[in-house]
Amino acid sequence: MSETTIPTTEQPETGITPGGTSGAFRDVLSKDHARRGKPPVHFADMTEDERVETAKKLGLPKFRVKQLANHYYGHFDVNAAEFTDFPASKREEAAAAFFPELITEVTRQVADEGTTIKTLWKLFDGSLIESVLMRYPTRTTLCISSQVGCGMGCPFCATGQLGLTRNMSTGEILEQVRVAAKMMRDGEVAGGPGRLSNIVFMGMGEPMGNYRSVLSAVRQISAMPPEGFGISARNITVSTVGVVPGIRKFTAEGIPVRLAVSLHAPSDELRDELVPMNKRFNTTQVLDAAHDYWLASKRRVSIEYALMRGINDQAEHARLLAKRLNHYGDNWAHVNPIPLNPIEGSKWTASKPEDEARFLEILHAAGITATLRDTRGQDIDGACGQLAAKER
Ligand code: SAH
Ligand code: SF4
Repeated sequence: MSETTIPTTEQPETGITPGGTSGAFRDVLSKDHARRGKPPVHFADMTEDERVETAKKLGLPKFRVKQLANHYYGHFDVNAAEFTDFPASKREEAAAAFFPELITEVTRQVADEGTTIKTLWKLFDGSLIESVLMRYPTRTTLCISSQVGCGMGCPFCATGQLGLTRNMSTGEILEQVRVAAKMMRDGEVAGGPGRLSNIVFMGMGEPMGNYRSVLSAVRQISAMPPEGFGISARNITVSTVGVVPGIRKFTAEGIPVRLAVSLHAPSDELRDELVPMNKRFNTTQVLDAAHDYWLASKRRVSIEYALMRGINDQAEHARLLAKRLNHYGDNWAHVNPIPLNPIEGSKWTASKPEDEARFLEILHAAGITATLRDTRGQDIDGACGQLAAKER
């Protein structure tokens, strides 16, 4: 497949240490990657200087930028008609220059009595991505996408089957959050008006493969208005397949987000098969980097583990996982086993309930905290790993 990848120099920022293309891992770009342009520049993509500059071109003084930030981050508002503090003659122009429509709803699927909503979005170039809103009694979580498709090729993952089309811009990532936050505020989700409280980067894509845009999005999600949406970094989870340089870079940022690492196997032998990226960064490197994140942040790392029947769900796997985590001593990790959501045509299927239970028991007996992750929205393919954004 290396014939179809474009030369390294033309590749977008991936956050991945450059390496040969002959190794086990490479960014898998679709053939039409190079033809695609960049999404329109949005307020969220601009630096403060760029915002002021753009305002100037419209004949607007600097303080108008602050007002726009208030509309966007404080009120989730991009509708010019609602910029009542703005001169009427400038509203349309300002909205067009700063808030181009980056994501357009294609379909919305609802489950769990209206508390789970999966939205299919079309981007400016026709790319399709998905996000899933899940309302619980005490929190509301939005699962967002950071790339169109994914190049990491995990064989059990629906997104992985698509390959990577392109990275999403900060604006495209952030718009998923703004729309969901607005829906919650306006009472459009069953249960009445509320607040979007949690964000997980567990939709389509590998966040560390789109490092710069994801980092900027994380900052703008967590900053207080008018710099951001004011969703605490502690309530943001960044999930990675184990791109070690990305984890290390993220550790150095010092933002108290929760890190989730998709391990899925306790040995290199098995993980090499389930997670191709393991041939580039093996379980020892990934666990070392994850444990260093714990040391630096004092935030417990989530270890994601999709239970696949007869593959990685046996007692020996649980025992080895416990041993490898306990190797680091302190209570630094939280294991999140999730029954596999089998994708069409996959040779793997979900574990038997009794194997799931035994897996958890063994971890608990070894002193490791572990909770079975819920599989909300499974009936609308809304659960993790099912986001493939098929054309409907
Ligand atoms: N690329 C990142 C984040 C997106 S995937 C990552 O891999 O961590 C989000 C989570 O869903 C990951 O833990 C991923 O391994 C898991 N996942 C993927 N396919 C799945 C499936 N079919 N069933 C259950 N979990 C799956
Ligand atoms: Fe990509 Fe994550 Fe799916 Fe692997 S599990 S293919 S890294 S989205």
